[in-house]
Amino acid sequence: MKRITVAIDGYSSSGKSTMARQLAGSVGYRYIDSGAMYRAVALYALDHGMIGPEGTVDEEKLVAALPDIHIDFAPGATAGEHQHTLLNGQDVETEIRRLRVSNVVSPVAAIGAVRRALVLQQQAMGREGGIVMDGRDIGTTVFPNAELKIFVNASAETRAQRRFKEMTDGGSQVSYADVLANVVHRDHIDETREESPLRRADDALELDNSTMTPEEQDAWLMAAFKAATQED
Ligand code: C5P
Repeated sequence: MKRITVAIDGYSSSGKSTMARQLAGSVGYRYIDSGAMYRAVALYALDHGMIGPEGTVDEEKLVAALPDIHIDFAPGATAGEHQHTLLNGQDVETEIRRLRVSNVVSPVAAIGAVRRALVLQQQAMGREGGIVMDGRDIGTTVFPNAELKIFVNASAETRAQRRFKEMTDGGSQVSYADVLANVVHRDHIDETREESPLRRADDALELDNSTMTPEEQDAWLMAAFKAATQED
């Protein structure tokens, strides 16, 4: 059977990563979290003094440093397994999930040169098919010819609640209000940026999972995958 490309896009904390990882695990595909790549670039910018006190990004410096930023995923990131993001060979998986990175990642991801560099890497990773990639522009820009495109959504409150639980379960001391504000702020930047803004590809299936159980979502996903592979 042909190994297809699956593009899963959606708002932050819509559950798209979990969904993408599960699907990859079930069907034996490679999973790539494109958001982790933008987060790694944001972490690099933070750690190299390229973010001002107001959260402004020193775009010129960051663009000049792009050739020095190497992002990879830990070897052994087998299909479905939680991958570890490597920034210049260092495991930054925990660091890139912190609020300090979440707070600056969207302005970093709005820089055209950053996007172009990461999109090229993402396309190279998907050349052979057999991949599930999640992000904001996978179905519209990275893989416009993907055989299966899914756009996931849920209300901002539902998404913030999920993210809050994830972060506090992981030991972070954050307030729900801060997490909600970050989610709403990132949505706004992602939707309004000039270069490949977040939007549903015309041929993407839409999924609002606000009230779905994990089992219902899984069944929906497998049905969509079967339909996409049968058509080919
Ligand atoms: O998916 P996640 O929320 O971890 O992504 C972090 C940020 O990276 C998003 O808020 C968005 O600004 C950016 N992003 C993007 N394009 C992608 C993936 C993520 O602009 N394909």
